[in-house]
Amino acid sequence: MPTSLKQPGRKRLLFNFEGEKGNKSMPQSDPSSPPSDFIREIIEEHFRSNRFGGRVATRFPPEPNGYPHVGHAKSICLNFGIAAQYGGTCNLRMDDTDPSGETLEYVHSIIDDVKWLGFDWEDRLYYASDYYDQLYQYALELIKHGKAYVCDLSADQIREYRGTLTEPGRESPYRNRTVAENLDLFQRMRAGEFEEGTHVLRARINMASPNINMRDPVMYRIKKESHYRTGDRWCIYPMYDFAHCLSDSIENITHSICTLEFENNRPLYDWFLDALELKSHPQQIEFARLNLSYTVLSKRKLIELVEGNYVSGWDDPRMPTLAGLRRRGYTAESIRNFCERIGVAKNDSLIDITLLEHCVREDLNERAPRVMAVLQPLRVVIDNYPEGRVEEFDCPYHPQNPEMGARKGPFSRVLYIEREDFLENPPKKFLRLSPGREVRLRYGYFIKCVDVIKDPDTAEVVEVHCTYDPETRSGFAPDGRKVDATIHWVSAAHARVAEVRLYDRLFQVANPLEGNADFIEYLNPKSLEILKSCRVEPSLAEAAPGSLFQFERIGYFCVDSTDSSAGNPVFNRTATLRDSWAKIAEKGKKREG
Ligand code: ATP
Ligand code: MG
Repeated sequence: MPTSLKQPGRKRLLFNFEGEKGNKSMPQSDPSSPPSDFIREIIEEHFRSNRFGGRVATRFPPEPNGYPHVGHAKSICLNFGIAAQYGGTCNLRMDDTDPSGETLEYVHSIIDDVKWLGFDWEDRLYYASDYYDQLYQYALELIKHGKAYVCDLSADQIREYRGTLTEPGRESPYRNRTVAENLDLFQRMRAGEFEEGTHVLRARINMASPNINMRDPVMYRIKKESHYRTGDRWCIYPMYDFAHCLSDSIENITHSICTLEFENNRPLYDWFLDALELKSHPQQIEFARLNLSYTVLSKRKLIELVEGNYVSGWDDPRMPTLAGLRRRGYTAESIRNFCERIGVAKNDSLIDITLLEHCVREDLNERAPRVMAVLQPLRVVIDNYPEGRVEEFDCPYHPQNPEMGARKGPFSRVLYIEREDFLENPPKKFLRLSPGREVRLRYGYFIKCVDVIKDPDTAEVVEVHCTYDPETRSGFAPDGRKVDATIHWVSAAHARVAEVRLYDRLFQVANPLEGNADFIEYLNPKSLEILKSCRVEPSLAEAAPGSLFQFERIGYFCVDSTDSSAGNPVFNRTATLRDSWAKIAEKGKKREG
């Protein structure tokens, strides 16, 4: 730590200059030892038993009906991570078997986001919709084997016949149609002869099975909707349980990793593959999905936020989508790190969002150049500094990393400081600028407040007058006197006006889906505060979209990639500098020290 920062009272300041230090209370990742978990144990057991001939082939199978979110990142990291760890492959497959809501825009978002996260499917980008013909052939085969039938019950009737957890189901009156009749009806379903809801194709399994999924589940339904890839070529579409296991098998997947809600579908997954006597029979393995506090991670809910204009779009920086997190300033590395730290398990849990925030702070602490920006400007005039004079201070970009270089920071007679760094009538513990009090300006002189000018109507302080000590340019006083605080500033004549968007959590409660209220009611009305007249140091005027900074003492910010224009950057707050996790760590450190 530079000695200049060892000041009494520093701990009491809300801010500090260094960003966050390594935080011992957080789960740590160790890149030298690959993660181990129950899924990897299963895979290693398969190596020992030679179930798949030593092969590992996984896939990430999103449905292109929304932008990927951080929950998907968990699955992406898991599937691609496992493939990489065991020298296998991971396919990217659009699981696009339902025409409603699937679009090319979503396909592109998925492709962009998986790539951005740092994963490579090489030439293995697949579409379940490419398997429609093959799936249809499989369905015909099941019919021929007496293992599927066309049922004319309505959706409501099917539900009624299905029974409950405590009651067996009843057989459909259409269950014993002949193969010939079933083939004829199914082909006519495909030819568009029937209306939606009049016929479905069902697997003929067991209406008395204790597992409701096995009670003659629907394989195909009629849907007279255009598909974003196959257009109007099909008017029957396969159900997930039928399409998914077969898509996996077609791609020669070995380990089909999915989330826990499919655990009871596994017997069905296996049934289709067995009934068709397919050689390629992947192992389905379920893990707990990511739930994150103060967040919703369901595409249906996220669509509601977008369509209801509660956010500006899928990439609104408050959204838990990868597009939103990226625009907010999250790095791919920080998200991968987060996914590694949360690990995978078999029981549902709620991950504290502070862990995600910690991961981005930790990464940005390393990589973000330090710059000065004043969010709520207060004018400071240095009475004894010559009018028209400009000095240039050397301002390093990173206190611990000289390789990041430095820039020249112009200093002149009129500055802006943060409004909250000045108080006319300060309480005892306030150590920053106030009448008669001296502080250090970051990278520069000591200044002392000698007068204030107020708005005659509102009595608000509009300008602070100070004197500076020319002997303290080094940041130290030759007579050894100390100051209690160092504050940031920008030169009024050189600074640029910039818009800064202060983002906060989108929801005010940890679990917005709990209880009876609509989750929309829990939106945090203060999740976005827009400040239009911030002043940033001149070096930031041309900052490239997406670039990341630490505004000293304030937080991490990134240049908005959508609303910035050349010379007019808009900054998004990625994260504040510290949070409760950091405070806990500091207490821990104090105890250790
Ligand atoms: P959502 O509930 O958000 O609509 P989904 O399961 O319908 O998600 P898919 O596009 O089908 O979305 O998901 C693709 C893959 O990502 C699936 O394998 C799914 O299990 C996984 N996945 C989805 N949400 C999560 C999550 N919260 N945590 C971990 N994995 C997830
Ligand atoms: Mg799904």
